[in-house]
Amino acid sequence: MKLKILVAAGDGIGPEVTAEAVRILESVAEFGGYDFEFRHAPIGGTAIKVHGSPLPESTLDAALESDAVLLGAVGSNEFNALPPNRRPEAGLLQLRQALGGFANLRPSFAWPALCSNSPLRAEVVNGADILFVRELLGGLYFGEPRSWDREAGSAWNTMRYTRDEVIRVARVAFELARARRNKVTSVDKANVLEVSQLWRATVSEIATQYPDVTLEHQYVDACAMHLMNTPRNFDVVLTENLFGDILSDEAAVITGSLGMLPSATIGGQVNLYEPVHGSAPDIAGKGIANPLGAILTAAMVLRHSAKLEQDAQAVETSVRKVLEQGYRTADLARGETRMTVSTQEMGRLVYQSLNEIIDRRQAMHAV
Ligand code: NAD
Repeated sequence: MKLKILVAAGDGIGPEVTAEAVRILESVAEFGGYDFEFRHAPIGGTAIKVHGSPLPESTLDAALESDAVLLGAVGSNEFNALPPNRRPEAGLLQLRQALGGFANLRPSFAWPALCSNSPLRAEVVNGADILFVRELLGGLYFGEPRSWDREAGSAWNTMRYTRDEVIRVARVAFELARARRNKVTSVDKANVLEVSQLWRATVSEIATQYPDVTLEHQYVDACAMHLMNTPRNFDVVLTENLFGDILSDEAAVITGSLGMLPSATIGGQVNLYEPVHGSAPDIAGKGIANPLGAILTAAMVLRHSAKLEQDAQAVETSVRKVLEQGYRTADLARGETRMTVSTQEMGRLVYQSLNEIIDRRQAMHAV
């Protein structure tokens, strides 16, 4: 197995959490005898400082030459005065567009050891296991026309989808549901928006090709409520760009922290992997960021780009074990300091647990 991975750690806590994710991938490669090649490139504010651009050409070229891109986070308060198209975040939007991935997969899983961490009651979240499939290249974030006419005091964006854009992301959702619990909840606002009526009609049509998968439609406002009341009722949630952005952050409540959520963007020329959280300037440089979202993102690299399902599961099991042992980063600790560990320490604990799992697996194969 050979895999070229571009590591674009970015800003704030990006480099801190990405270092732990890379350590996990290196460990999997070493034990499995896989040839993972890592290259590093700047993106976001870090890239603006050195190259004057949030996505330097050298970074884009390196990304397009890779099999997978592992991103940390972008964003820094020192660039807030810049226009949106020159800010660190623009580098990430440009990269997403260039790589062409249209299906953003965001799992939201209630880790049993963390159920009491959720602001929701443990019995509500226990057993919740949701996979958001968010359309990433269309909708309001990219639709034209868009503008802000300051003199007229008016601004506008366009939510636009083509049938083909809906079909390709719907197929990803139905295929993934087949490997899970065979249910897709498609989320829209078809009672108000024509673009949602196209979305709903197209998803219903694709559903006929997947008779083994149950399709339900929900309006986005109702879905926001059901996610908090009955998160266990969801399996795959399929939705457009803006609704997916908001709902998947809302679902962070189920896991107990934004720092626990991984993501993968597939369907384009090169897959892009990034934890859901941002650069967290409020805690950057303190060594307290939760690296588990980034480490679980590394598991998604193994699953979707390297096709190493067993290794992906081994990483997820290591995370589960460390949480069961009671270790917490500050965001998960809720004021309890006894088992509170730093970013690096959490990374080392997962690394140690992973090595034990792999050792045991190899010993079993040797028998
Ligand atoms: P954020 O996700 O950076 O932080 C929100 C809150 O969650 C903060 O209190 C932060 O400390 C906490 N948090 C986030 N990740 C954590 C982790 N791994 N461990 C512990 N706590 C964690 O969102 P924000 O504050 O709205 O944005 C900060 C910057 O990040 C902005 O510049 C924004 O544009 C950018 N951003 C980037 C991405 C990305 O790179 N994909 C995503 C969202 C926001």
